[in-house]
Amino acid sequence: MAGGAAGAAGAAGAAGAGGAGGLSDGELVERFSHVTVDRDTAAFYRGWLHHELLLNYCDDCGHWAHPPRPMCPACWSTKVTARPVSGRGTVHLLMLLHQGPAAPDVDYLAGPYPVVTVELDEQVGLRFTSTVTGCPAAEIAIGMPVELHWIDRHGAPFPVFRPIPEPGVTPS
Ligand SMILES: [Zn+2]
Repeated sequence: MAGGAAGAAGAAGAAGAGGAGGLSDGELVERFSHVTVDRDTAAFYRGWLHHELLLNYCDDCGHWAHPPRPMCPACWSTKVTARPVSGRGTVHLLMLLHQGPAAPDVDYLAGPYPVVTVELDEQVGLRFTSTVTGCPAAEIAIGMPVELHWIDRHGAPFPVFRPIPEPGVTPS
């Protein structure tokens, strides 16, 4: 919102995590002002800045869980850490929105906007919801293999999916 000159000098001397991950909590909240960044989701959104999809992994029982919560839903351990997932999975659920909330690169008039929930390869039931790019909406199908891809939205990286070409199939 405010005048553009803030930025670079902001991160008050905190050593360690380099690059965009060095943002203070306050700067992270400002960068993702369109979503709720709190103690539970900070690592998740920080990962976006590095093009990493970090989901919570339980160090006690090995269970992945999303959305981020401070406790493992399988064993109630609080030893959960945000770890990168491969980003590969299959389309589990598909919705085509013909109208909805405005988003920077979403034009409902140009055609339906696909919303997909992808079941990630890491674990049965581990799902992440976003959209699919690089493929006409009419060609997206349940069970389609997809991989993580990053676009820019709201001035920050945003995780989406794109189709993985099936091995041995040559595009016509
Ligand atoms: Zn657990």
